[in-house]
Amino acid sequence: MALYKYGSSLQPSQHSAFDSIHSSGEEAIHPGIYRCVVCGDEVVIAKGHTLPSPDHHQHKPGLGPIKWMLAVFAQSN
Ligand SMILES: [Zn+2]
Repeated sequence: MALYKYGSSLQPSQHSAFDSIHSSGEEAIHPGIYRCVVCGDEVVIAKGHTLPSPDHHQHKPGLGPIKWMLAVFAQSN
């Protein structure tokens, strides 16, 4: 789970970007921290980059494929 120290750096949001599940290798439209909802692994993705390929990390047998969700949406001015 992503950590933070100063609450003044983050704020809650109801943005729909947090509701989508993304596959490995998919373009990340929104920059930020993505979390695999299956195993909890997290990655940081810059704007315009793609989510890691399917061999980024391995799941135990039976858990199924990697599924990324946006956890922290980085904002730029
Ligand atoms: Zn995973």
